[in-house]
This record gives sequence, C-alpha cells and structure tokens, in this order.
Amino acid sequence: MNTEIEAIDKEPGANPAMPANFIEVSINEDIKTGKYGDRVHTRFPPEPNGYLHIGHAKSICLNFGLAIKYGGKCNLRFDDTNPTKEDVEYVDSIQEDVNWLGFDWDDRKYYASDYFEKIYELTIELIKKGKAYVCDLTAEEIRQYRGTLTEPGKESPYRSRTVEENLELFEKMRAGEFPEGSRVLRAKIDMASPNLNMRDPVLYRIVYTKHHRTGDTWCIYPMYDYAHPISDSIENITHSICTLEFEDHRPLYDWTLATLGIYQSRQIEFARLNITNTIMSKRYLRRLVEEGYVSGWDDPRMPTISGLRRRGFTPEAIRDFCDRIGVAKSNSLVDVAMLEHCIREDLNTKAPRVMGVLKPLKVIIDNYPADQVEELVTENNPENPAMGSRTMPFSREIYIEQDDFMEDPPKKFFRLAPGKEVRLKQAYIIKCEQVVRDEQTGEIVELHCSYDPDTKSGSGTANRKVKGVLHWVSAAQAVKAEVRLYDYLLLDNQDHEEAEGTAKDFVDTLNPNSLEVLANCLIEPSIKAAQVGNRFQFMRNGYFSLDRDSTPQMPVFNRIVSLKDSWAKQGKK
Ligand code: ATP
Ligand code: MG
Repeated sequence: MNTEIEAIDKEPGANPAMPANFIEVSINEDIKTGKYGDRVHTRFPPEPNGYLHIGHAKSICLNFGLAIKYGGKCNLRFDDTNPTKEDVEYVDSIQEDVNWLGFDWDDRKYYASDYFEKIYELTIELIKKGKAYVCDLTAEEIRQYRGTLTEPGKESPYRSRTVEENLELFEKMRAGEFPEGSRVLRAKIDMASPNLNMRDPVLYRIVYTKHHRTGDTWCIYPMYDYAHPISDSIENITHSICTLEFEDHRPLYDWTLATLGIYQSRQIEFARLNITNTIMSKRYLRRLVEEGYVSGWDDPRMPTISGLRRRGFTPEAIRDFCDRIGVAKSNSLVDVAMLEHCIREDLNTKAPRVMGVLKPLKVIIDNYPADQVEELVTENNPENPAMGSRTMPFSREIYIEQDDFMEDPPKKFFRLAPGKEVRLKQAYIIKCEQVVRDEQTGEIVELHCSYDPDTKSGSGTANRKVKGVLHWVSAAQAVKAEVRLYDYLLLDNQDHEEAEGTAKDFVDTLNPNSLEVLANCLIEPSIKAAQVGNRFQFMRNGYFSLDRDSTPQMPVFNRIVSLKDSWAKQGKK
C-alpha cells in the first residue's frame, strides 16, 4: 500500500501528504490564472429529502476538505426546491451529521428557498431577453417533442410567444391562476442541440404543495438545474463540485449564468461513491425505512451517517475512508472491506478490551476453592498502555464460548477438548476433565475442568506453554447483555438504477440474515460503567458499541465490525 496513504493525518480535511487530485489540479489552474483571485469557496448542497449516507460523506469531506486545504470557505446549502419530498426532520438530521463528521459551516447555512424571490426576478429578466417562454404542452408532449439522442427535437408551438405574453403568463403562474401541471416556463435554447438538456429545458413548474419553509408563498418552483447555478452564483461559489451524472448538465449550468449575466461559478464533476453489498440512493434507503425492512434511518445496518454512528463508527474512520478512496472521474465500486478496515484501524488504539462471551458454555473448575474470587489485573489496551489497567474477577464457575469447545476436534483445533489444556486469558491453564450433557436433548450443558495453580498469568512461574488462549467471564459477576451481529444488507452488487421496477428489484436481493440477535451474552463486570455510544473490543469477537436501546437491566451492544480484516490481507499481497 502507498505509504503516503497510510500516513493520513486524521484531522478533517488536513492531509497535505496526498498528491493533488484532478479537482485540486483545476483549482490550482484557476488560482494561477486568477479566475477567482486566490479564493476557494465550495458548498455542500444536500436536498433535505432523506438522511445523509456515506456517499454524502464523500462529498462533505471533499467540499469542506478543499476549503480547509486552501484556506477558503464551504457553505452548507439546503437545495430545497421540491416541496413535495422535503421536510424539517431531514434539515435537522443533515446538520447533525455534518457536524458529527467534524465540519463546520460557521454562519453560512443557506437555503435555495431563500433565493426564490431573487430567482424569480432574474427569470423576469431572462424572459425580457427573449430567453424563456411559457409552454402549455403537457409533460408527455414535452417528452415527445424533445426527440432522442439520434433525432433532433421539435419546437413547441408556444415557443414564439411574445415577451409581453410570456411575462403576463408567468406572472399569472406565480399568482396561482393556473392548475398544477398545466403550464411550465422553459428556456429557449436549441431543440436541435445534440445535448438533450439543452433542448428548451423546463425552468419552472406549478406545484400547489406547502413548502417546509416558505409555506404557501409560492406555487411555482424552479427546477434543480436552474436554481442550482443561480444559488451558487448568489453565494459567490468558486467551484461547484457535483457528481458525474451532472456532466451533461454543465452546458445548461454555464448557459444559465452566462445568459443571466451573473457571477460565473465553475462546475466540476467527480465520481459517485458506490460500495459493495450496499445501496446508496436516498430513494432506496427511504423504501427500506418506509416498507419496514429496517428499523429506521439510523438502523445500524444502513449506510446512512446516522446508521453508521449508531453502529459505532467514528467520524475519524469515515474521514479516513473518504481520504483513501480519493476522487476520480469515472464511476467505480469500493469494497466495503475497506470501510471496515478504516474503523478497525481507528478503534485498535482507542477501544478498551473487555471479555464478553456471546454464546456461553459453563465451565466448573473443580479444584478451585468454591468461595474464592481473585481480582486479576489486566491491561485495558495492549496497543495503548496509556489506557491503563483494570481488574477482572476469576472464580470457580466461569463461561467460555461454545465454539471454543469441541468434543471430537480435528487435528488443528487448539481450543478446549476432552483431556486437552488451554490458557484462560490473564488467568490460568485449565484442562477439560468431563463433559456433562442434558439427559434428554443430549446437548452439552457444562464442562468440568481442573486448573493448574502454578500457571497464573504474569506470575513468573507461568512458563508452561499451551497453544490455545480463550476469553472467559466469571459466572457470578458477569453482566447479561444482548448483542446484535450485523451482516451486509444486500447479497450482491447489481446495478440498482437499472434494476428498478424489474424482476431484479433490489428488495429481492436483501440479505435475510443481516441481523442476528444474541440475547444471552455475558460480559465482564467492568462493562457496567459503559455509556451509550461507548466502544469496546470484545476480545476475539470484534468491536462493539453500546446501543441506545439499552436498559439498566439489559445492555444492548452493536457489533461494529468483526476482527477479521480481509482488506488488510488483500493490501499486503
Ligand atoms: P441520492 O441519489 O442519494 O438522493 P443525491 O445526489 O440526490 O443523492 P443530494 O442531497 O442532492 O443527493 O446530494 C448532495 C450532494 O451529495 C450532491 O453534491 C451530490 O452530488 C453528493 N452525493 C450524493 N450521493 C453521492 C455519492 N454516492 N457519492 C458522492 N457524492 C454524492
Ligand atoms: Mg437529489
């Protein structure tokens, strides 16, 4: 792996070691030619129609990161031009998520809806310039008239309306004199343009829906492709960074600003983030929420920022991930293993180790005094001595993992088996003497073991070596907990854009086993002090965080990620 990439500085946006990406190359050019002086001013423009996902995190890290890198600014702008899908719930969650990721818009929080009056005024000018007209074709007719990639479009019969007529009709549109869908305002550009976006695109439509901020003030709303460049221009944005699907819209972006004769921001496109076994579009994520496939937008399986936060991801790990994937000009699919690698790497030095048994099997150490409890001292994090140590009770009855015992083990099984020895981590070597089964079911219910008192960890006399080391908890003091194990939401990596509405609808590829709930887990008693959101490494089982569903009687832990790192292995090849 590239050492420059490994040396990532984990402060938001600060990573001078990374070579300039193509966006920075463009910005450097603009600084050289003085196009915007030496200013760099970006914006993150979410539409408040859903919760942000990890794809947005890429855009956030990019836009805010460029501002930090160049000593510029980044605005937060809500692109709220579609009243039918937007809501304050989303506005609030978006701000929380951007802040949580570690970025700050200072006093620069804007809404496209703040510009509705200004956009309307500019539009009057556009009509006066003969560059826009009111069109009475239906949506279907407009589509038919537009032509195809191989055939030019046909001009609308309303295209030749006079400026006066257009002004009068547009004012009446605003005044609510026409029914929804009956008329639109269109740009007058070129119905024969090879670019379909330039064939007299719709600029305004009539919508009688209460807007979450402007209420009933407006019944005409500007289209995204029209409102966006104007909003960028009003805010003096230098570089308007968006995803690749807007590349073909750039001529319209430039046309809008040039024709209106206002400040010209520069649109630059980069590739969307896609991750294996994950869907990213808000539209699909909303479907998962609304149709009950997940418990909500912050279900820990969701690729939303709130889902990742609840699962236990850190903002540092997400920023590191966004840095590592970089920005590219062509779409690609990132292996989810890389995201998992980033959180493991971050938590390795941060998360205290604790012992937790997920599927308990009782072990009775027959030669250990029945009323004795030893407080064994153990390090909180061997990777980070500054995290100190704690004590863990050890006693005659303990639990180990069911999987750590096999009655008839294969050759290389170095865990516990009849007549075999293992070390209990930080404690003693034990030997399995007897297996007790349930008379009716035949299931193993407990093991009887003996311990070697001369093998206490750290005692100096513990020089006898055994291969297997197991985690365990003392039965009397262990805390009962629920643990939620997660697998990927999707079984495969099909292209969901293409599959929508077909037999391969993405809900058919949902992983039926994406959630496994273990209700009888036992964790060492130090866990009692945990607060919601705290993260731990349960030794040998992965990283976990305390979920908000916890009650005083029953803590609930989310597994953030297991310990197996398939990405690190790939990287070392
Ligand atoms: P979605 O399809 O998920 O609804 P969107 O692009 O419609 O995404 P917006 O709220 O309009 O969502 O996006 C805000 C910003 O985030 C835009 O600049 C957009 O380009 C960027 N963005 C959205 N999805 C991704 C992604 N997967 N990767 C990178 N940037 C993204
Ligand atoms: Mg959108």
